[in-house]
Amino acid sequence: MRAQHRELIDGDDEWRCRGRCSRSLVLLVGSVTLTTQLLLACFVLDRESASSTAWLQIDVAKLTAMINGTEALTTNAPHGRDELLGGLLPAGMDRRSCRSRYESWRYYKHFPYAASPHLQRKLRAYEARHRQCAPGTPLYVKSVEQLRSGRSAEGMECNYVVWLPFDGLGNRMLSMVSGFLYALLTDRILLAVLPPDSADLFCEPFPDTTWRLPVEDFPVANLVPPRGQDIEEYMRLPVTNLLGVGQDIEKSYTRLLDAKVIGPAANATAGVPPYVYLSLGWQLKDLLFFCGEHQLVLAKVNWLLLYSDLYFAPSLYTVAEFQDELRRLFPAKESVHHILSRYLLHPTNPVWSMVTRYYRLYLASASWRIGVQIRMFSFTSISADDMYNQILACSRQEHILPETDADNDEAVATGGHGYGSGSNNSTAIFIASLYGDYYKRLRSRYSDQHAAKGTSARVGVFQRTHEERQATQNLAHNQRALAEIYLLSFSEALLTSGLSTFGYVSSSLAGVWPVILLTAFDHKVPETPCRRAVSMEPCNLKPPQGMECRGKPMDIEGLARHVGVCEDFKDGVKFFY
Ligand code: GDP
Repeated sequence: MRAQHRELIDGDDEWRCRGRCSRSLVLLVGSVTLTTQLLLACFVLDRESASSTAWLQIDVAKLTAMINGTEALTTNAPHGRDELLGGLLPAGMDRRSCRSRYESWRYYKHFPYAASPHLQRKLRAYEARHRQCAPGTPLYVKSVEQLRSGRSAEGMECNYVVWLPFDGLGNRMLSMVSGFLYALLTDRILLAVLPPDSADLFCEPFPDTTWRLPVEDFPVANLVPPRGQDIEEYMRLPVTNLLGVGQDIEKSYTRLLDAKVIGPAANATAGVPPYVYLSLGWQLKDLLFFCGEHQLVLAKVNWLLLYSDLYFAPSLYTVAEFQDELRRLFPAKESVHHILSRYLLHPTNPVWSMVTRYYRLYLASASWRIGVQIRMFSFTSISADDMYNQILACSRQEHILPETDADNDEAVATGGHGYGSGSNNSTAIFIASLYGDYYKRLRSRYSDQHAAKGTSARVGVFQRTHEERQATQNLAHNQRALAEIYLLSFSEALLTSGLSTFGYVSSSLAGVWPVILLTAFDHKVPETPCRRAVSMEPCNLKPPQGMECRGKPMDIEGLARHVGVCEDFKDGVKFFY
């Protein structure tokens, strides 16, 4: 989430249906949630062990799938709970160079969805194509030569989408996954520009090849902000000052259309430009990208340079031409990011060592892990006291943290806790926050009380770092942040902050429907402290709105069934079932 998102926010945090969202969708979602919550309540009364909680979630996913007619394609435990995640990952990649790829399944607690057979085929075909077109291959050399020639050519074997780094780590992970989905839908190759701050975060995702764009030999200059420039300062620059640094607005699709350099009005003899920037971040200059007829134009451009900090995947569903393929790839729409992030993003060994060492030391012995992610944005800040009270109010409402003697009896009587099961009755609360304050308060809450109310449960509270400040241009900082995203994703339950991409990524990697703290718009403590998400998908915080598409009409009903308003942001959209 960027500070500039403040321009989107009008102070009303009510979750209601607007614009393209249908009210019936929200009602359907509401009724599914109620049913699943009832089911949850029944299961938790009879819980035997931590592993049974995974079964619990799978049953809920199955129920959801039954209601939506996708039952056969939703996982059944232990399907997908193996090192290849049920055929999602390619076999035979080098284990030592990327330990996380084949080890992470041991740490995840939930496996609600497996890759559909169609997605598995698509991924294997993508991997083969990537090998043929990657840097270092003759076809890549040919494509770069074509780029130097100043125009795109028809019938090239390889076309590319180049991901450019933009904004914080959560934002980057979301736009990487969206870019990869777009590459799958359009038969392009995804390459990534990885500056030093991101050089050692993620393993190579595809077998026997690379996804790194060799920037030094690439004909387009200034793809990343200058080294050493403070990212926060850089982000605050007006859009015009960003020209030529990370994104050349003049070469963005809509500008080229307006200048008749591309599109139906362009001079045919000049040819199609060799590359186009896609401005799909919070500035969203290229709304037209989400129209089918413009996708036909972009299909002729050999190189697309993607500049985005958003999870724009749900908005791809508005392109009529993509809808059928999306349906086949992801019969359960809320599985898109969950599945693709587990496929694409694997922490490198140094990050993985941080994760596993910490997990083993502090979290492994608990029978129930609750991840709590607290993000404070300057434009929605409230006092630490108010924030802490909101966390407690949310916990009482959703029964997420263990109760203590200080909590009222009514909250305990309503039940529904998921913590402290079986003979090893212990709960680990893992806090991820830039600040140490909430950790200290929660630690003292549980150490004062010694045990959760009414049980003999032990409660441990842990925080790995509190760096006080975002430092996105620092690799070590990003490695620590990534380690915490993964530690959160190994939780049984999650409490995350609204609008935070850091939390979004953790939840969908975890396969968990998080409880989301609502945002203090206009610095006012929200009346409703939080909501339980009904979809584990991240929210697209800036969906395209107001563009007029002229191509094939989209399937409005399908859209309303699968894409709806985010629980934490009424102007955002996300995939539902
Ligand atoms: P968002 O701003 O919440 O949407 O998430 P981003 O990940 O895009 O940007 C926030 C950045 O601040 C992260 O990438 C980290 O660099 C830092 N950060 C925020 N919260 C935490 C946290 O809980 N732990 C750590 N280690 N870093 C954090």
